[in-house]
Amino acid sequence: MSEPQFFHQGDLVAVLTSQPLDRVLDYKAPEGGCWQGAFVEVPLGPRKVLGVVWRAGAGDYDHAKIRSVIRVLDVAPMQQSMAEFLRRVSEYTLTPMSKMLRLATRAPGLGDPPSMRQVYRLGAQTEARMTDARQKVLAVLEEFAELSFTLKELSDAAGVTSSVVKGLVKLGAVEELATPQDMPFAHLNPSLPGKSLSEDQAAAVAQLQANSAGYRTTLLKGVTGSGKTEVYLEAVASCLNEGRQALVLLPEIALTAEFLTRVEARFGARPAEWHSGVTMTERRRTWKMVGQGHAQMVVGARSALFLPFQDLGLIVVDEEHDSSYKQEDGVLYNARDMAVLRASLVGGQVVLASATPSLESWANVEAGKYTKIELKSRFGASVLPEMMAIDMRQETLPADRWISPRLQKMVEARIQAGEQSLLFINRRGYAPITLCRACGNQVGCDHCDARMVEHRFLKRLMCHQCGESKPVPKICPSCAAEDRLAVVGPGVERLAEEATALFPEAKVAVLSSDLFGSARALKEQIAKLAAGEVDVIIGTQLVAKGHNFPKLTLVGVIDADLGLQGSDLRAAERTFQLMRQVAGRAGRSDKPGVAALQTHQPEHPVIRAILDGDEEAFWSAEAQARAQAGVPPYGRLVGVVLSSPDAQEAFEVGQAMARNCQPLTQIGAQIFGPAPAPIARIRGRHRVRLLIKAEKNAPIQAALTAWTALFKLPNSLRLSIDIDPQSF
Ligand code: ADP
Ligand code: ZN
Repeated sequence: MSEPQFFHQGDLVAVLTSQPLDRVLDYKAPEGGCWQGAFVEVPLGPRKVLGVVWRAGAGDYDHAKIRSVIRVLDVAPMQQSMAEFLRRVSEYTLTPMSKMLRLATRAPGLGDPPSMRQVYRLGAQTEARMTDARQKVLAVLEEFAELSFTLKELSDAAGVTSSVVKGLVKLGAVEELATPQDMPFAHLNPSLPGKSLSEDQAAAVAQLQANSAGYRTTLLKGVTGSGKTEVYLEAVASCLNEGRQALVLLPEIALTAEFLTRVEARFGARPAEWHSGVTMTERRRTWKMVGQGHAQMVVGARSALFLPFQDLGLIVVDEEHDSSYKQEDGVLYNARDMAVLRASLVGGQVVLASATPSLESWANVEAGKYTKIELKSRFGASVLPEMMAIDMRQETLPADRWISPRLQKMVEARIQAGEQSLLFINRRGYAPITLCRACGNQVGCDHCDARMVEHRFLKRLMCHQCGESKPVPKICPSCAAEDRLAVVGPGVERLAEEATALFPEAKVAVLSSDLFGSARALKEQIAKLAAGEVDVIIGTQLVAKGHNFPKLTLVGVIDADLGLQGSDLRAAERTFQLMRQVAGRAGRSDKPGVAALQTHQPEHPVIRAILDGDEEAFWSAEAQARAQAGVPPYGRLVGVVLSSPDAQEAFEVGQAMARNCQPLTQIGAQIFGPAPAPIARIRGRHRVRLLIKAEKNAPIQAALTAWTALFKLPNSLRLSIDIDPQSF
C-alpha cells in the first residue's frame, strides 16, 4: 500500500461521501491543506455532508466551479489499509462504497461540532491542602472512578458549590477534560501476571506467539471449558506488549459483561466496548480513541471490525461458528471472513475460537490455509459431560407435557443434591402456535409469512420475523368463533410452567432474551444463575453461548430433533454445534455433568454423532456431502432476493432474470428458482429468491454485476444480493 498523499490548499481532491452516489466528488483542498484519508465536511447542494479525501481529483472540468472542502474534522485520518479494506468488502459483497463509508463512520454524530461539555476526573496532584468540602469532592471521584462527571453532577453529588470543584482543578487534584470523547481509556497492563497455565494451554500460547509477526489465522479449537479464553487473553497480552491494538469479537452482547470482568482481572482495567448497548457518547469516544491509538483493546460486536484502528495486531473471533456473525440485512458480510481479510491487510493475527468450528474453518485448516491448535481436555478437574439419549418413543407423556419421566427423575436427583439443571428449548415465547379449534386456522402475522407466537409474560402475540405484536385475541381472526383459540407446542415460558408444576420445591428461572428489558437486567439474571441461586434454569439459545454456570451438572434438551427439520443444508451442522454447545454447559467445575437429549430418532446420523462425540467422522461426512453437492465451503452460492409488495411482480421479475442469465452461464454458474425465499414475506414485502451456484473461484461478482445491469427494475422492487448465504 502506498503512502498517503498530502494536498495543498486549492489542489483538487476526490471525496467519497456517505451519500448514495456511485462516484466520488471533486473539491478543492481547504486552507492548510489536507491528507489523503482525512475526514472532511463538504458542501453538497445546500447541505454539508461527511466525507473522506479518497484520492487526487480528476480535474477534467472547470476549476472555477469546484467548491472547497469546508473543514477537516478533528479525528485521525482514515488509513490506506482501512480504505483498501472497505474497497475489498465492497467488491466482495457488491455493496456501494457510500454504504461502506457509513459502516466505517458509524460513530454517531461524527462531524457534529464537538460538544463543549466538560467532564471531571480525579487528577494527579494529591498534595493539596484539603478542606472538608474539597475532600467530599475527591471522595465522590474516588468512589466512582469509572465515571466522569459534568460540573453540575459532581458538585451536586458532593453537596458543594461548583467553585469548590474549580478550585480543585486549579490545584491539579481534579482533572478537567474538554469533552467526554477526548478521554483516553484506562491503560491495560499486559505485564500483570496471568493465571498459571496448564501444559496444554502453555503449548497453545507458545504456538500462537511463535512467529507472531505478520498475518496468520489460527483456529483455536477446544471443548467448552478447556480454557480457550485464557489462551487467547495471552495472545492479547503479547499483542499489547508489542504496542499494537487488539479486537475481540463476541457473538452476543450478553456475553460481554462476564468477559469484561475477566479482562479487568487480567490487565487491571476495562477495555473499550462497541455494540448496540453502548451509549452514543461512549461510542463516539471509542471511535475517536481507537483512531488515535488511545484504546488498546476493543471488545465488541461484528461492526467493531470497521473501527479505525491505528495499529491492529490481533483479532479474536470467539465462537467463530456462530451464525450471528452473518446478518441477514444491511451490508451482508460474514464478520469471521472479514476479520481474516482485515488482519491480512494490516499484518495482524486472527484467532478463531470455538468448541464446534464451522465447516468453513474446518476446511480451511484441511487446505492448509489456517493453523489449528487444539485443547483436548477441559481445564482442571472438570470432565466432558456424559451424553445420552432419551428415546421419546419409549416414554409416556400426558398431552401438553414435554419433560419425560426419565428426565424428571434426573432433575429431581439434582435438586436433592443441591445442583443445577438446565432445560433447553430453542423457542422463545409461550407456545409456537395459536390455533383455532373451530376452523383450524393458525394465527399468523399480517405482514410476514410467519406464525404469531404467544408471549404470555408480555401478554401479547408476537411475530419473531418483524417484531409486530398484538394483544392475544379472544375470537378467531379467521372465523370469529369465540373462545376456541388454543396454543400448541412448547416455548420456553410454557416449559417453565411445566417445570414449576413438576418441581414445586425448586427455584425455577427462565433465561430468554425477550424477557429482559435491558442488557443490565439480563446481566444480573445471568450472574444470579452463575451464583447458583436457581435450581432449574429454563433457557433458549442464549444459554448455549459461553456462560459459566459452575453448579450446573445436568442439561436436558427438550427437543433435540427440532433443528433437523427443514430443508436447510446447514441444518445438520447447526444442530451438531448447538447440541454440543448446550451440552458443554454441564459439569464445568469439579462435578461431572450429564447431557440428556430427548429425541424421537436416536438413530439419526446427526444425533448419533452428537452422542458419540465423534467429531472428525461427522465433519468428514458432512464435508464430503457438501463437496459432492458443490455447495460451500467447496463451491460458491449466492442468494438473490427480490422483494415487492406485489408477490406476482417479484415472481415475474425473478423469472425474467432467470431466463436471461447469460453473464452467469458464461462463467459456468447455474441458476435455480425463483422460489419463495426462506422467509417468504417480511414486513408486507413478498420475497422470492434465485439461488446461484458456481465454482469456488469463478469471477462471480463481475458476472453478477453484468447480469443485474441487464434489467431495469420497477421502483417497487428491491434486489439484494447475498454472497455466501447462511441458509441454502
Ligand atoms: P473456554 O473459553 O474454552 O470455554 P475458559 O477459558 O472460559 O474456557 O476456561 C474455563 C474455566 O476454567 C474458567 O472458569 C477459567 O477461569 C478456568 N481456567 C481456565 N484456564 C485456567 C488456568 N490456567 N488457571 C485457572 N483457571 C483457569
Ligand atoms: Zn411479522
